[in-house]
Amino acid sequence: MVNKHEHLSESVRLNWESLFSLVERAPFGLYIIDADFRISLMNAESKKRAFRNVNPVIGRDFGEAIRVLWPEEVAVSVINKFRHTLDSGEPFFSLDYIEARADIDAVEAYEWELHRITLPDGKYGVVCYYYDSTQLRESEQALRRNETWLKGQKEAFMASINGAPLEESLDMLIRCAINFMDDGGKASFFLVNPEGTAINHITGMGEEYTRVIGDFPVGPNSIGCGLAAHRGTPLIYPDVDADPEWTPYLWIARRFDFRATWSFPVRITGGKIVGTFCIYYQQPRAATPRDFEVASTLTNAAAVIMVHHLAMQERIRTEQVLREADHRKNEFLALLAHELRNPLAAIRNAGQILLRANGDAQTSRLAAEILNRQVDHMVRQVDDLLDVNRITQGKIELRKEDADLAQIIDHAVETSRSLFDELDQELIVTLPTDSICIHGDPIRLTQAISNLLNNASKFTRKGGKIWLDTELANDIAIIRVRDNGIGIAHADLHHIFEMFVQVDKSLERTRNGLGLGLALVKSLVDLHNGTVEAHSEGIGCGSEFIIRLPVLHRQAPAPVAIESGIGANNTGPLRILIADDNLDSATSLAALLQLMGHEIQVAYDGLEAITKAEAFYPDLILLDIGMPEVNGYEAARRIRKVRAEGFKLVALTGMSQEEDRRLSLEAGFDAHLIKPVDLASLTEFLTRH
Ligand code: ADP
Repeated sequence: MVNKHEHLSESVRLNWESLFSLVERAPFGLYIIDADFRISLMNAESKKRAFRNVNPVIGRDFGEAIRVLWPEEVAVSVINKFRHTLDSGEPFFSLDYIEARADIDAVEAYEWELHRITLPDGKYGVVCYYYDSTQLRESEQALRRNETWLKGQKEAFMASINGAPLEESLDMLIRCAINFMDDGGKASFFLVNPEGTAINHITGMGEEYTRVIGDFPVGPNSIGCGLAAHRGTPLIYPDVDADPEWTPYLWIARRFDFRATWSFPVRITGGKIVGTFCIYYQQPRAATPRDFEVASTLTNAAAVIMVHHLAMQERIRTEQVLREADHRKNEFLALLAHELRNPLAAIRNAGQILLRANGDAQTSRLAAEILNRQVDHMVRQVDDLLDVNRITQGKIELRKEDADLAQIIDHAVETSRSLFDELDQELIVTLPTDSICIHGDPIRLTQAISNLLNNASKFTRKGGKIWLDTELANDIAIIRVRDNGIGIAHADLHHIFEMFVQVDKSLERTRNGLGLGLALVKSLVDLHNGTVEAHSEGIGCGSEFIIRLPVLHRQAPAPVAIESGIGANNTGPLRILIADDNLDSATSLAALLQLMGHEIQVAYDGLEAITKAEAFYPDLILLDIGMPEVNGYEAARRIRKVRAEGFKLVALTGMSQEEDRRLSLEAGFDAHLIKPVDLASLTEFLTRH
């Protein structure tokens, strides 16, 4: 017969066991310490995790077991808490107990509580329930880190948008990356130069690194960031000491104290690589998938910042170019005004001379010569301006043909001859014995060579010498224009072919010009697939300009007689109607044509032109285009309607674009002449028709 006490304890034990079997598989830890401070029971979770390195565990002294798990200090505090609960019956609750383990290299976090209970033997014991919150804590930490990371990125973006220097925004990214990596690495950013040939350290590794790395080459033979930028793929060097490719660069690794380095390209939308992100470690280290993830987020963020930076740079550059262009335009307008005032002053004087000449033939002739010379000069300037404008708009049309270079040079020399004569300069021309055939526009090539000759004369003193040599070398015609004039400083040689560039801009400038001549020469020669270059040993040493043009392997065409242009009037007297709203223009042309023996009538607007065309029945009508009442095009159409043939209709206008010519032909004009029309073109037209 079992006594009552034994019966009771048996039922307690049974209850106890059935209770314990319930918690055995619970997802939380549970164990019991008996009155002797030994571990008397422990569920599976505890054995599997917290106490996995304590073997055996059941029956083990709690103090001993706990010292396996935790460092002494932590173990003592835990033991004291158990002891206190056992002695006093006071429960204990701990929230977030985070400590580094003694048996493994890990930090673990627990929430646990202690309660005193009566064990089946009737004595007190302590039950500990605990919950391993390590993972929860880690995810919370990760969340917090992500928040900081996102905040860091946002700040970096904002800084970039608010115009902070590139290094400042990238530094913010580096700071949050380092924070995120949390493992003692260093990081840096590089930016690829606009040509894509080199990469420069922007921030992360200090000024000395920037200086030492300099323009690090981007290419297949580079390494690290330079190679990653070339290949467009991440490059991981876990240990540079063990990598033969690093041998030539190990000094960098030593100087900046790294063993491992990883480079990740920064790619913008569209695939272009604008920079790299690099990480460095003092100890060898391979990259984990998480490292790749961090780098990818970071390079994406950096791409946004770098693109913004590049766009800003581009804007600044464009603004600067526009400012410079504006400045040059202002300079040019001032120069143009100056250049026009000089001939205008001379023309005004000549006009006054004519008024006062009182029929004195010599005085009138002098004035007329001044007028012709100055007008020719102004016409040249305006032609140059229009040519440059056409060239820059890609509107110039070359009339290419097979041409003899000697003939082109002859024309150029003829065009410029008067300048040399005026200044008593000697021009020595050497032509090759064999003829050289060029496929090009003879008028434009003559213009280019003539421009060089004009400059040679302009920048050479009175009585100086100019040489024009032509030779053939390897299917290239070489035309040299050399002078013993003022020469060109070395620093100016490279930009004199730019538009509006003049070396001497001083008020004392004695030579006129708009700084367009050489720009025209270069454009025209370029259009012929040739080159032009300038040489000078410096100021006072003369200059040489060399044009190179590809030649044709064909016989040069037979020389064509040069039309003299200003020839005698070999047409019979014509009935000519002139229509122009500019009184002086109309009157002077009328007077000139009258002097040539023609019968003239003048109209001052489009309507009058139409009426007179019917009444006067002219052989030739010279119509201005921009006229009041009815413009030239409309007047032409109406005149043609009344009388379709038997006369010539010529537009005489300041409008010189190809489009204007096209409109003229459409309106029924036979020709389109540009004002001021020179006598040569007009005579040629009259002769031909
Ligand atoms: P421009 O003659 O109207 O000034 P160009 O474009 O023809 O313009 O020439 C640009 C500049 O190049 C000139 O202003 C002058 O300073 C320099 N230059 C050109 N040809 C010569 C030369 N033969 N000798 C010295 N300087 C020259």
